[in-house]
Amino acid sequence: MKISTIRSQILVMPEIDPLANTRENRNAPRPIVIVQIATDDGVEGLAVTFYGGAITAALKRAVDDLGALVVGEDPHRVEAIAEKLRAAAGGSGPAGIFTLACAALDVALWDIRGKALGLPLWKLLGGTRQRVATYASGALRRHLSLDEVVAAAGALRAKGFREVKMQLALPGETTPAKEVERAVKIREALGPDLKMMCDINQRWRPEQAIDIGKRVEDAGVGLFWLEDVTAHDDYAGIARVNAALATPICGGELVWGIVPFRHMIEQRSVDYVMIDLARVGGITPWRKVAGMAEAFNLPVVSHVIPEIHAHLVAAAPNGLTVEYMGWMLELFDGVAEFDAGTGELVLSDRPGLGLSFRQATINRYRMAS
Ligand SMILES: [Mg+2]
Repeated sequence: MKISTIRSQILVMPEIDPLANTRENRNAPRPIVIVQIATDDGVEGLAVTFYGGAITAALKRAVDDLGALVVGEDPHRVEAIAEKLRAAAGGSGPAGIFTLACAALDVALWDIRGKALGLPLWKLLGGTRQRVATYASGALRRHLSLDEVVAAAGALRAKGFREVKMQLALPGETTPAKEVERAVKIREALGPDLKMMCDINQRWRPEQAIDIGKRVEDAGVGLFWLEDVTAHDDYAGIARVNAALATPICGGELVWGIVPFRHMIEQRSVDYVMIDLARVGGITPWRKVAGMAEAFNLPVVSHVIPEIHAHLVAAAPNGLTVEYMGWMLELFDGVAEFDAGTGELVLSDRPGLGLSFRQATINRYRMAS
């Protein structure tokens, strides 16, 4: 089997929240590149990549140029292909557009592998479980009013989510008291039994994270984790916060490639390792980071793109929970079903990723070229 063609397109997706239907963040369109790789056997793999922002056209071009080098290769030889791409890119990686482009190619190759072998990816990659925990994300955002966010929390609970993420580090004039009040009100709306995560998105100083984190602890909120408490690569600063708080610390979504995860983990800065499929460079390196975390007795969790990540977290023995963020859900058919009775995602037995692109969504959001 050989790779025969590669096709990519840019879509500009809106940042919507289909989980609680909170108001759209119209200032945050999310351009993505969708990729389809075909083989001479008629097997086709798909992938997406993103974080190009205003330079998404350059990301698409990188996918196309690197993709041209993959035509004629055996799609099962993912490591050989990655080696070829690294050599061809002249040392421009790790990180940046090179890694984002490689991620898309790698994901599509794994989709092809699964389809060629007749196995769903979660099973091909180890098959630890077919049902996996998940948390609702993207609904309880910091720009919403307190009333809006409390109503959204209630809506997520009513939908059957057992795990929910909110955000602190509020915009505009804020105080520690306002931050704590928001966490307390959301906890009240969720009830005592749901797991509640909180993302700071790097907006606090370490000392602020310790101060407000302790106040949230003292208020009895009971966070399951506190995420990206300060600059993501200040591993020593994050470790200081981690040592000062009882609340588990999560981080890693902004870490690129494999090696920086070693530095993050060795500094004991996080209790939960979050891996981003695009920034890590695809499924192949994602699994290497998960294995490294396992050796340090740390669980792994995923960042966005639940449509693909559900397979990876379900496959990994130390996979903990899948971030269920809905802004790309309308792009795919075949996404793992959410079981409102248990709050889990249930993976299918369809081979590969089990996904297909919805043509109507592509037509709606395709960027004119
Ligand atoms: Mg985050």
